Amino acid sequence: MSGLDETHDPRRTSWVESANGHRDFPVQNLPLGVFSADGTSRRIGVAIGDFILDLTAAEDFLDEEWREDLAHPVLNAWLARGPAAHGQLRQRLSELLSDERYQNDLDLCLIGQSEATMHLPCIVGDYTDFYVGIHHATNVGRQFRPDQPLLPNYKYVPIGYHGRASSVRVSGEPVIRPQGQRKPPEAVVPEYGPSRRLDYELELGMWIGRGNRLGDPIPIGEAGDHIAGYCLLNDWSARDLQAWEYQPLGPFLAKNFLTSVSPWVVTADALLPFRRAQPPRPEDDPQPLDYLRDEDPQPALGLSLEASLSSERMREAGQPPHRLSRGEASAAMYWTAAQIVTHHSSNGCNLQPGDLIGTGTLSTDSDDGLGSLLEISRGGKQPITLPSGETRSFLEDGDELVLTARADAEGAVGIGFGECRGMIVGVST
Ligand code: MN
Repeated sequence: MSGLDETHDPRRTSWVESANGHRDFPVQNLPLGVFSADGTSRRIGVAIGDFILDLTAAEDFLDEEWREDLAHPVLNAWLARGPAAHGQLRQRLSELLSDERYQNDLDLCLIGQSEATMHLPCIVGDYTDFYVGIHHATNVGRQFRPDQPLLPNYKYVPIGYHGRASSVRVSGEPVIRPQGQRKPPEAVVPEYGPSRRLDYELELGMWIGRGNRLGDPIPIGEAGDHIAGYCLLNDWSARDLQAWEYQPLGPFLAKNFLTSVSPWVVTADALLPFRRAQPPRPEDDPQPLDYLRDEDPQPALGLSLEASLSSERMREAGQPPHRLSRGEASAAMYWTAAQIVTHHSSNGCNLQPGDLIGTGTLSTDSDDGLGSLLEISRGGKQPITLPSGETRSFLEDGDELVLTARADAEGAVGIGFGECRGMIVGVST
């Protein structure tokens, strides 16, 4: 059952001209987000080409039941609806934006994206970050344990930690360099000060739709019904703070000073044409335990992820951003999105609409697809050179980092996620 319908039809075009051939937001995408513009309060909208269709302004064209959900300034009520309802709204939006009969009325409900401010799409109840990028886990593990990069549990249990929801922010939020305890190897005691090893992590985020009751695990066959959509996620990380604080309980202040997400919720429905088989596990690897055994023939997402950096000097010189990595990093997920959700709830933990789950850093198995500077600079030992001649082991003040994602498949109109952007701002000490 592919689930493909007329909303995915590559021949379908929009009367919003800029949508046709748009890199991110053709009529086949239709991601939802929360925006404000020119004195209006926060509203729910759908991205179409260079515009946003304001769903509050367009409410006369939507069913009564939708109006209530879409009147909120956040997507939580929509998220809670579940996949059948999400599919119905998608059908209607696709019809409204492709059928020219609606152009005269709905033209008035369009707002240019360049005139809008995007906000966090929902109230984030909880945020959990996983560690399913096996190449990242191996690369980082090797820096600490050359003989045994992956710990023995990695191929049995999807590793994760509970992050902090209060500091999840939308793309564009400045990244204030965190201060904290760090202990350089040669120092006897730690010191407190601004992080000197500030890094990014290229990740996908999942937005939980319908939740589960406490004590009621989500079976693997139903996990997909609980994932409403996806975003880009940057898990900003202070490696020096992390190295000193992480044992024995894991990441804490090295991570929770900020997590950035892209503003548009790219729905699971929009990504259907880009699903593919998970690369087979190496023969020597253990099979997943029964509760994690996913019978879905196409559980993986075919996404190309990219990270780029521009320094202040590069921008002043008019130089384009420098690409740090690009690749099919989603193929590096050792555990699928469904396995992540099932594992998270396997002890009875309840997930709720608007919960955010990060995949963990997604690096490919090649040097041009590494999803963090920790990996690219080999732990800071091999700085990279930027087009300006500057070198980088970690992020400097004024650096701007941009994450993007694209989905492409034969016979489908490709879609994108938009951007997840953040600029480093120094602390005055
Ligand atoms: Mn992470």
